[in-house]
Amino acid sequence: MATELVLLGTAAAPFPVPGRAGISSALVVDGRVFVVDCGRGSPSRFADAGLDFARLEAVFVTHLHADHIGDLPGMILYPWGVRTGADGPLPPLRVYGPQRPGELPEGDATFCRQTTIHPERPAPGTADLVESILVGYAYHLNVMPLDCYMPDAGALVRAVEIPVRAATGDAAQVPVVVLDDAAVRVTAVAVTHGHAVPALGYRFDTADGSVVFSGDTTVNDDLIALARNADVLVHQVADLGYLGRHGTDAAELERMHGLHTDVSEVGGVAERAGVRELILTHYLPADPEAIPEEEWKRRAGQGFSGTTTAGRDGLRRALSRSGS
Ligand SMILES: [Zn+2]
Repeated sequence: MATELVLLGTAAAPFPVPGRAGISSALVVDGRVFVVDCGRGSPSRFADAGLDFARLEAVFVTHLHADHIGDLPGMILYPWGVRTGADGPLPPLRVYGPQRPGELPEGDATFCRQTTIHPERPAPGTADLVESILVGYAYHLNVMPLDCYMPDAGALVRAVEIPVRAATGDAAQVPVVVLDDAAVRVTAVAVTHGHAVPALGYRFDTADGSVVFSGDTTVNDDLIALARNADVLVHQVADLGYLGRHGTDAAELERMHGLHTDVSEVGGVAERAGVRELILTHYLPADPEAIPEEEWKRRAGQGFSGTTTAGRDGLRRALSRSGS
């Protein structure tokens, strides 16, 4: 039995780029598959990686930006036909994620919305999102079983909202236990990602080791505490200087520094957490042509005494009890 990390997609931001799929990662624990975020192309990358859709147990959403959930409908709907066994439908795919944020944040003079979409519920949570997907695909779900055998659509998916409130920045957070069984324990804290509230980071502990997923965040003490002594920290990375040299103005750069951890900061995060390996993902800029992997790795690794790896789509990392 083993635990294996697979990066499915490593691109930041919604806009499609050639050569990198949107942010998504998988953790396979004794054959059970858990996915963190479902960015652009993640179901295809899941198949490319040879993972088994029938063993997909749960999706963990870090936050509800489109680059993290754009292919959640596909991850739910495409494998519908295989979600059955000898005893009937498999247990529903669980989708864990943030709850409703409460109130809709205001903007400012520079960054503001003109139109409020769906004002009756302008800030949905994960359960609302999954319900909306089922509503939007009701035709498919209700009609397809009339033309080919499909498992009961009522057993397809369950949303589970995680009771983590936005970080207040005062007291250290106590991680919330999201899932805990004999083989895997998942805990979460709120991280800091601009107005995306709550945004979550996740830690997975298994008998083989531990993997932490930063989600999208600025440098965050609660994430560093969550990642303490983990074997692998899968962390987002941005090069704000590159964006500044390529047309992003000062106001937007300042805003982005309230959203993301810069490449100059991420090594310090890994060092403070004391992790064994830092694996970079969620590259911003996303275009693989913009910055070579070697440069990402070299710059991100500064200040970190462990191993820094530039993640790429399809990268696999097996964890073993020996820590090798
Ligand atoms: Zn993102």
